[in-house]
Parts: sequence; structure tokens; C-alpha cells
Amino acid sequence: MFRRKNKNVCGYWNCSKRIPDDQFLCAEHYEVWQDGLIDRCPKCTRFKDIAYQVCLDCYFGRPVASYKPPVEIPAREKEYKVAYSDAWIDGYHRPDRFFVYLLEVDDGTLYIGHTRDLSKQLSEYRKQGKSTNPGKTFKLQYVQIVATEEAAELRESELRRLILTNPDQIQAMISDFRSHMRKLGYG
Ligand SMILES: [Zn+2]
Ligand SMILES: [Zn+2]
Repeated sequence: MFRRKNKNVCGYWNCSKRIPDDQFLCAEHYEVWQDGLIDRCPKCTRFKDIAYQVCLDCYFGRPVASYKPPVEIPAREKEYKVAYSDAWIDGYHRPDRFFVYLLEVDDGTLYIGHTRDLSKQLSEYRKQGKSTNPGKTFKLQYVQIVATEEAAELRESELRRLILTNPDQIQAMISDFRSHMRKLGYG
């Protein structure tokens, strides 16, 4: 029996999952890409988290073979981007950075949490949503980078308290965040 082997690997900078010939990212990274959370590294053109200006290899000056996608990369369905800013770049220099995030579900429920790896965390939510409540979507509404886990926990509890005591301020924060991103040319 002839068994076809996938010779391509995922185009995400540090992912080595084998993928079919007609794809350019593994299933997990494809979803994150559809959500606008990963884009191309301007140096090596592989995919990287949008929070970073370049992929980690390029950042450290590791030599990388230039990446040729096996297929033409289609336009993304969603173009919402949480792009990098000076604050994001600062966060990038710290290996112990944490993301404090706020997600909104279709029914308006807000989720607050913190994580070291935003893409991975969002992909977890998506997987959970699929098994417990198909069709449920999570929209990233606010992200902040902090340096330590203690700071992340503190910020998280502040936000939780705000949701209960001052939801208007949460809404204002979300729209500030969006307009800030629009000013940077993303939106
Ligand atoms: Zn991958
Ligand atoms: Zn790169």
C-alpha cells in the first residue's frame, strides 16, 4: 500500500507539525491565524504572533532559511488585529512577561485571565467552546502586557472588580484599546 507522507511543515516559526501539501499552517495555527493573532515575520516571512515585531529566531539573529509557503496564502476572513505597540515590544524583551486579557463571548459574558502564551490560551478556549457549546465565539477585547505573574494577578482582580462595580468603565477601556490600535494603523 502506498502511504502518502506529508513533507511540508507548519509555517509558524517554531512549529514542526507535518501538514498536507495544500496547506500552509497546522490546524491549530490556522485557527489562530484566522483570528488575526498571527502574521508574517517581516524578516523570514514565516508566521509569528502579532504581539512581536519579528519571530524569536530573527530577534536573536539566528539564521533562518527563507520560507516559501507551499500554497498561495488566502485573504483572512477576519482582519481584527491586536498589533504590537511600544508596550508590546517592551514585553517582548522580558521572558517572564504575562498577558492580561479580556474576552467577550457571543452572549456578552466577559472572561478575564492571564497567560504567558496568548495564542495558545485562545486556542484552548476555542477547543473548549467547540466541545461544550458549538458555535460559541470568543472575541479578544483587551490585552495588557505586564512583567510579572503577581502584577498579572493584581490586574486581573482589578478588572474582575470593575466588571461588577463599574461596567461602564470596562466598556470605555475596551473602546480606548480599540481606538489606540486603530491609531497605530490596525483595526
Ligand atoms: Zn503549527
Ligand atoms: Zn523571522
